[in-house]
Amino acid sequence: MEEPPREPGGTLLIWDYDWSLINANSDTYVVEVLRPELMARFSSRTTGWTELMDSQVKELFARGVTRSELEAVVAQVPVLPGCLQAVAVANAAQARQVVLSDANTIFIEAFLKKEGLRRCFSDIISNKAEFDGEGRLHIKPFHAEPPGCALCPSNLCKGQVLRQLLDREGPSRICYVGDGSGDFCPACQLRPEDLLLCRAPPSPPLKRFGLLDRLTDPPSASQVVAKVVKWHTGASEPLDSSPDAA
Ligand SMILES: [Mg+2]
Ligand SMILES: [Zn+2]
Repeated sequence: MEEPPREPGGTLLIWDYDWSLINANSDTYVVEVLRPELMARFSSRTTGWTELMDSQVKELFARGVTRSELEAVVAQVPVLPGCLQAVAVANAAQARQVVLSDANTIFIEAFLKKEGLRRCFSDIISNKAEFDGEGRLHIKPFHAEPPGCALCPSNLCKGQVLRQLLDREGPSRICYVGDGSGDFCPACQLRPEDLLLCRAPPSPPLKRFGLLDRLTDPPSASQVVAKVVKWHTGASEPLDSSPDAA
């Protein structure tokens, strides 16, 4: 986010990560594969998610999980192949692409490198993760100061980031790909000329879609002025376009 402004215009493709670019929650996936006994901590959490995830990777390290093991597992998360093909197609069409995610930078970088897709993205915008000298991962909130957004967790307001991207990049069109309730705040920042690609059923293994829920609830749906298009697998499929997403 510290780069100088780019040439304005063109399409900016913004990808949510969990359940959008990949077909999993990367945080729970890594814990379930490596030390499933830690899974119960997700349902009994008393802190924010990012704080809990920092504690989960601390526990993984305490239980002998090495850096290379962790990176290998996060890199092999389940995907929808159509979404990865869409990244390659957008890259060939010279669209600028960023990942905007409430996961963390290390998990996303490890995955993109394994898929050979890192060069397709100009930015990975997520909670900051870093290995220390001993090989333990630390995860910190994206925002140093909570932005105080009523729609978002204190560690990351995707809407605020989207506004900064609009100022910095001046795209003539944004395509935003998302699935969850955390994608609603940035969806509200999109303009009428932008496109909101919203995951919708049938799209296994998910049954509930937090973003779609907000878009089918009239008071919150009215806050989104972008064109809404539902997606299911990421593959070339007849796009199900409906302004009210009903
Ligand atoms: Mg998501
Ligand atoms: Zn927000």
